[in-house]
Amino acid sequence: MSDQVVSLGGKKRSTFIDKVKELLPEGGNLSLCLTCGACSSGCPATGLDGMDPRKFLRMAALGMDEEIEKSDWPWMCTMCQRCIYVCPMKIDIPQLVFNARALRPREQRPKGILGSCDLALKNPSTSAMGATPEDFAFVVEDVLEEYREAQPEFADMQAPIDKQGAEFFVNQNSREPVTEPDELVPLWKVLHLAGVDWTYGSHGWAGENYCMFLADNDAWEHITRTTANQADKLGCKIFLNTE
Ligand code: SF4
Ligand code: SF4
Repeated sequence: MSDQVVSLGGKKRSTFIDKVKELLPEGGNLSLCLTCGACSSGCPATGLDGMDPRKFLRMAALGMDEEIEKSDWPWMCTMCQRCIYVCPMKIDIPQLVFNARALRPREQRPKGILGSCDLALKNPSTSAMGATPEDFAFVVEDVLEEYREAQPEFADMQAPIDKQGAEFFVNQNSREPVTEPDELVPLWKVLHLAGVDWTYGSHGWAGENYCMFLADNDAWEHITRTTANQADKLGCKIFLNTE
């Protein structure tokens, strides 16, 4: 049981819940909640900051906008969607959480997520580390050459960037080329041994999208379009998202 005390004042006018009701499927009637607790029991964020999804939902339904805005719990939700799968009423709590995040002014959102989103907007790589397309190409070529030489059984292995007409467009966690370049290789080996025709994109090679977690819709769309447009431009048939 959580030890957080929630005090209920008089009924407040909630703008949050009105907005969310328009966005949630079928009018987002939060009163459908049976308070069964199935969402809370499977949620990895239950107990953090004294909160769980059922309690969060109840606060939203009660119009406690201020408390929701101040709570750090929405930032601890992983958006895993387990709560939706187990909810008998199919209440979309992650959507509610996403909109709760947007209640905070952008500059007051958690620094780590904010910084990663801003770095991803800096150049066409969409890398949360701010690595440029040139940096990425340099690392990929360097690591590939090293492994080809050190492991003759992989002497023909490829790690193409912007290969026109490749079947698979593959993206990549943006930390690996910067902090752990050797971690790039296992996936290359799998693709090589499976005989997959694949490519990275010089634009949009970075797979994660922190702007989504930041609840910045415009930036989220920009990142997604950058990578999808590159896959289209190269004529790839399959988008393999590794993140
Ligand atoms: S989406 Fe969020 S609230 Fe739902 S189970 Fe996952 S972490 Fe919990
Ligand atoms: S699982 Fe659904 S119905 Fe049950 S408490 Fe959670 S939101 Fe309410």
